[in-house]
Amino acid sequence: MKCPYCGFRRTKVLSTDPDARGIRRRRECPQCQQRFTTLERAVLTTPLVIKRDGRREEFSREKLLAGVRIACARRPISADDLERLADRVEDYIRQTGKTEVPSKMIGDRVIAELRELDPVSYIRYAIVYLGLEDLEAVRAEINRLLEESQTPTGRK
Ligand SMILES: [Zn+2]
Repeated sequence: MKCPYCGFRRTKVLSTDPDARGIRRRRECPQCQQRFTTLERAVLTTPLVIKRDGRREEFSREKLLAGVRIACARRPISADDLERLADRVEDYIRQTGKTEVPSKMIGDRVIAELRELDPVSYIRYAIVYLGLEDLEAVRAEINRLLEESQTPTGRK
């Protein structure tokens, strides 16, 4: 393990402890004497996505982000917010431990995340994602949000 302070290539392991997330090692750099901790954890693979028509495809973080970016256009949401949202969705589907997950599971998760982040983006995404079949649900959701907030929205 390279020293993150000076880049020296061989650091000394002072202790090794199990941690809920993996194996934690306390290390010291013999060159600059800095101490730091590393966490060793298994890298989980991302499951395949089962599309509505039954075909399978690789999970694409870029595709997920592209959809979310459209929903968030001109909203006060930073690129960082979007990256973190994608991280959480990716972690979520990895943590299912499954080799394949339905695309609906990912869409539902994105909706839940956007709901926390920004009501306008959330509704935009929900309209595209739920489609015409569930316009009633979208309307009910908009009404609920309007009741929740006292301030008028949507004026540009
Ligand atoms: Zn060092």
